[in-house]
Amino acid sequence: MNCEILCVGTELLLGSTVNTNAAELSDLLAGLGVNVFWHTVVGDNPGRLAEAVAIARKRADLIVTTGGLGPTYDDLTKNVLAHAFGREMEYHPEEADFLKRWFAKNTAVPFTENNLQQAYLPERCTVFHNDWGTAPGCAFEQDGVRVIMLPGPPNECIPMFRHCAVPYIKSLSGDVILSHQIRVFGKGESAVEDQLRARMEHMENPSLATYAKVGEMLLRVTAKAHTEAEAEKMCAPVVEMVQRELGSAVYGVDVDSLEALCLTLLKEKGLTFATAESLTGGLIGERFTALPGASAVYRGGAVTYCNDVKAAMLGVEPAILEEKGAVSYETAAAMARGARVAAGADLALSATGLAGPDGDGVHPVGTVFVGLADAERVWVRQLKLGTRRARVRQLAANHAFDMLRRYLQGLPIEQI
Ligand code: ATP
Ligand code: MG
Repeated sequence: MNCEILCVGTELLLGSTVNTNAAELSDLLAGLGVNVFWHTVVGDNPGRLAEAVAIARKRADLIVTTGGLGPTYDDLTKNVLAHAFGREMEYHPEEADFLKRWFAKNTAVPFTENNLQQAYLPERCTVFHNDWGTAPGCAFEQDGVRVIMLPGPPNECIPMFRHCAVPYIKSLSGDVILSHQIRVFGKGESAVEDQLRARMEHMENPSLATYAKVGEMLLRVTAKAHTEAEAEKMCAPVVEMVQRELGSAVYGVDVDSLEALCLTLLKEKGLTFATAESLTGGLIGERFTALPGASAVYRGGAVTYCNDVKAAMLGVEPAILEEKGAVSYETAAAMARGARVAAGADLALSATGLAGPDGDGVHPVGTVFVGLADAERVWVRQLKLGTRRARVRQLAANHAFDMLRRYLQGLPIEQI
């Protein structure tokens, strides 16, 4: 199935809203074995939206729209789509009742008639009731083209896709589509592709595709079969092959991120950790505490930017800072050791380095030392992470979590 994602909203064209819906929907559709070949963005303009629909229906057999389902005058997606596919609008009293109840419960403002516009949907459609907001979405098929309409707000669009559109898309074919995500850190996309290209080229079912993420990469194995068990059986040898080829660079299958894996492993082993951050300014702690349940294993962290603060808060010896400098193996090691003791944790991570653009006259910009300490030992990775400040900081955090997961998985720690 070839798909076009059509996002409606002038704010997307102006750049005031980033089109996260298209990115997330693409990812979810890929997991269903749907090829997303086009992303289109069009403003809240009926003429241009109709043009975009005319193009999309010629080349795609699934069109997924987001935005423009609300009650205001600029919410015109449903009307334009219905008109393009020759359908009348149909009133759904159950959706109207829901809207009235929702207003009475959730707002102090009176219910205005224009809200009822949301209860109109193209005739003969499958209604996607909105449990996360107000405007319902829908799906219909016309002349061999499937249309799915979802609301614009991401916190409605994405759950509705998962709960309503996924079962709808799955029901279209008798087959089961199953995919596994293999997460890789420490090997670039081109290196991985080089290693696996010969095999990947000949694979259709199951298929194997690579996707680059910030500082890491993802391989997706997708199989289509009559039953889930069959699809699982087809995926298994491919997952094993990738793990064999890429070795310990594969950090997990169907895990969300390095930090999510660390959380699971720390919980399993009943260990706690702490952080001492310089160039990452709290990013490692921030990423970890974004995970629900982090408090079970994360004791806390210190952001120690200046040398005297590294000494005062973490007990880094002034002699080390003077002789070796803040950006050094020794400082990273002392920061990790100090944080572990200060926080009363089993383990601690540290990061110190030059995020740029200014250097320190000794090291090139992008030089980073990431440390890990347990009660007996300390490990430090020396890295060169390029010259882009934001990327250097993200990658430093990735490396910190990679060291932690390697420790927890019993793998060599300093190795990348
Ligand atoms: P509402 O009922 O809130 O009006 P709607 O379906 O009409 O929903 P829009 O009015 O188009 O949706 O968008 C509502 C908000 O959702 C926008 O202000 C924007 O912040 C966000 N949004 C819309 N489209 C996208 C998108 N493609 N990616 C990310 N955010 C989006
Ligand atoms: Mg709107």
